[in-house]
Parts: sequence; C-alpha cells; structure tokens
Amino acid sequence: MIHGRAMVTDGQGGFRLEAIEVDPPQPGEVLVALRASGVCHTDYDSMRWGNTLIMGHEGAGVVAGVGEGVDGFVPGDHVLLNWAIPCYRCFQCRQGNFVLCEDKPRVPHARTRCHGNPIGRAFELGTMSTHTVVPPAALVKMDQAVPFASACIVGCGVMTGVGSVLNVAEVPPGSSMAVLGCGGVGLNVIQGGRLAGATMIIAVDVNPARLEMARRFGATHSIQAERAMMRASSRRQQRSKRSPAAGALIMPSSALPCPPSVPLPWRWCAMPAWRCR
Ligand SMILES: [Zn+2]
Ligand SMILES: [Zn+2]
Repeated sequence: MIHGRAMVTDGQGGFRLEAIEVDPPQPGEVLVALRASGVCHTDYDSMRWGNTLIMGHEGAGVVAGVGEGVDGFVPGDHVLLNWAIPCYRCFQCRQGNFVLCEDKPRVPHARTRCHGNPIGRAFELGTMSTHTVVPPAALVKMDQAVPFASACIVGCGVMTGVGSVLNVAEVPPGSSMAVLGCGGVGLNVIQGGRLAGATMIIAVDVNPARLEMARRFGATHSIQAERAMMRASSRRQQRSKRSPAAGALIMPSSALPCPPSVPLPWRWCAMPAWRCR
C-alpha cells in the first residue's frame, strides 16, 4: 500500500490537503507518481459537486509500477494523463469516437482511501495527488525532455482547444476564425487554428495581457472587448450551439497572409483520444 497525499474537496466549496492510501496496481493497471497537475476551471466547479473527491484531471508524472499484463509502460516512463479514457471496444470507440466512450475503464473507488473510507477521483484520475492508479488507456508516454508542468495541461486545456478546431469544427486551411475568450482553452483554440492553417485568427478578450499572449500563440488580430459584450456573445453562442468549445466561430475565408510561425507542440498530437491529422 502507498501512503500519499492529495487535495480533497468536500463537495461543499472547501478543500484541504489530506493523507491518502492507494493500493498497488492490479492486472491491467498502472501506478503513476504525479509530478504536476494543471488547475482547470472545472476543478473549481468540482468543489461544489456535492461529493468528497480527489481533485484534478490534468496531470503528468512518472510510472511507479505496472500490474500484470500491461504492455508498453515500464517504471520510470514519463507520462501525461488523459481523462477521455477509451475502452476501445464499445460502439463509439469502434467508430473512432474515443471521447464518447460508453464504457470508460475505471479503477474502483475502494482502492483509494482517505481516513479509511473509499474516495472517488475527479474524472477517474485525481491528479492533485502524489499517486494515482489508472488503466494504460489513460496514459500517453512522453519525451523526457518535456517539463511536467508544461505536459500536464495537454491533458485538458490543450486537447480541448486544439481538438475542437481539428476534430469538431474541422477548420479548413485558409479559414478565418474568431476566438472569444483567451484563457487556457481559448489559447489552444488559437494554436489549433494555426495547426489547421487558418489565415486570420481574431482573439477577443477583456484582458489586454491575455490578448498579448494570444498573439504569441498565433492570433493575427486582437480585439479588447467590454465585459458586457462578452457576456452577451457567450449567451448567444450557448443558444445557437455554434461553438465547439471556448467560443471558436468559423467565418468565411480571408485573403490575409499567414502570420509568422509560432512554436507548436507537434509531437504531442499522439493522444490516443484524438483523431489527429
Ligand atoms: Zn479541464
Ligand atoms: Zn469505449
């Protein structure tokens, strides 16, 4: 048994650092010693889900043990965690829609305990902890040169933003797009636009510092909006359901030249939950 620590929410708006116990990995499971966890707005929401649970769903760490029958991972591997865990067998997985898996593999709650009681983990991961046990399908092996603190956000903010552009909106090369809100997901919608070959990427946010970042991530234009305008746009988008995530609106193609290259994490496009092209 592993004695670790985790950030545990009471589900009523509070959280605290607690001691946890984690059982060793059983056949078909992997034990990960986490080194970094992102903080997503969903983690903030999770503090009011009404359940005690270990917080965090975007993390990176080192394989600390493997159960029988696990191929492809050995102790010492650097990995990032993916909450869209596919079973590879259900109808949706067979269609290639791994993020819609109908039979997501789970490690039973009873195998992780806090004060002797079984405890759930956010998105079956619970990355704000020192240790977690997951199925191999929740892991992506990564280059050891990638810092853990950078890798961890690939597991939510990056895959949500980039995946929305490449896999949901399927932005064609030469498109124009506007991104409403340039936080973690919005910046990655912008990166996705660059990967897709969009020629005009308009970043819209109320915060000038975020717009500066948006330009570094590949936005060709930026507009500083008023808060009232952003709220109205957000309501309109929710009603029209046009937005795949984070407010990406795809508009008719423009003739503007492509902006200069920005560094993009090409090699991270190996997520098993993606249909990367
Ligand atoms: Zn998230
Ligand atoms: Zn499935």
